[in-house]
This record gives sequence, structure tokens and C-alpha cells, in this order.
Amino acid sequence: MNEFNYDTYCGIYCGACSIMRACREGHKDRMAANYVEDSELKCHGCKTGTLFVNCAKCKIRDCAVSHKVEHCFECPEYPCRNINEHKSIEKILPHLTLNPKNLQAIKESGCSEWLAQQEQQWKCPDCQTPFSWYTAKCPNCGSDLSNNTFKLSLFKFAIFKFLLRFAR
Ligand code: SF4
Ligand code: SF4
Ligand SMILES: [Zn+2]
Repeated sequence: MNEFNYDTYCGIYCGACSIMRACREGHKDRMAANYVEDSELKCHGCKTGTLFVNCAKCKIRDCAVSHKVEHCFECPEYPCRNINEHKSIEKILPHLTLNPKNLQAIKESGCSEWLAQQEQQWKCPDCQTPFSWYTAKCPNCGSDLSNNTFKLSLFKFAIFKFLLRFAR
């Protein structure tokens, strides 16, 4: 499948993902800049067949597929150990703090409405260009987006990235 899809099982909005935006527009934010090879920065979204290598190994994704749920809140085990593992790395990847709120919004309003709201949230207020979680300035007009995005500790992220090589 070559289309892009921004919905996920865990509540991440793939449309604001650093890897996704680098893949679509070639703009590398603070996280994506850690990947040297452009071939690594390839992802069409969690629910597609074209996945970034780390998300292809995601336990939540595999588990949700085997539980036959579209979103983890539909699962009787939510919030399970896999979800809590995500919580434990929020200090390294602060965009994960949005997941419970996102799942709640999908539960209350439905996925289409949530996706439309997210599309607006992750667009530059000045020029409407989409931006990613760790973008400090709009890649198109240069507007300051630091109040709309997260800060990433490059040191913590480097250690995390190194340890991921041995996971699973
Ligand atoms: S890398 Fe992961 S979070 Fe980012 S778009 Fe792909 S599946 Fe979504
Ligand atoms: S067990 Fe956890 S990860 Fe798996 S579907 Fe249920 S809530 Fe999601
Ligand atoms: Zn802009």
C-alpha cells in the first residue's frame, strides 16, 4: 500500500511524526536528523504496509492486530503492560504523553473527527504547512513553533536509539 494513513492503535498521530514528515517533505526535525540514511526515514503510517523499522517491531501494533482492535481503548486489557512501557519512555519521547488524550478523543468523537482536529493542530498557524513533534520553526515560513511542539534531549535519544538495536 502506498497511501499515507495517520491513525494508530496506541493514539499516536502519525501525521505529526518526525519520520513521516521527513519521508513526505524531506524536512528533518530534531529527531529525524538523527537518522543519517534517507532510506531509514520511510514510513506511510502505523496502519500501512510501509513502516519505519522501529515501528515495524512495535509490540502494541502487533498486539492490537492480534486482539482485533482498531484502537487500544477497545481492548479489555487497556491499559496493559505494553501501554505502560510506552509511558515509561515519555521522558525520552515526550510526544507519547499525548496518546491517552488522543485515544480518549477518538473514543468520544470518532476517528474521522479526531484526524481532522489533529490535521489542524499540526499545521503552522501562519502558512498552514504541516509540522512534526520536534520542529522548532516552520519549515516553510520560519514561524516560531516552539510553543506547539516538544523539546527532545539529543543525549537521551541517542542512548535510546542505541538500546533499541538490541530490542526484540
Ligand atoms: S514511524 Fe511510527 S509513529 Fe511515525 S508515522 Fe511511522 S508508524 Fe507512525
Ligand atoms: S493488550 Fe494492550 S497493546 Fe494489546 S491491544 Fe490490548 S491495550 Fe493494546
Ligand atoms: Zn509556516
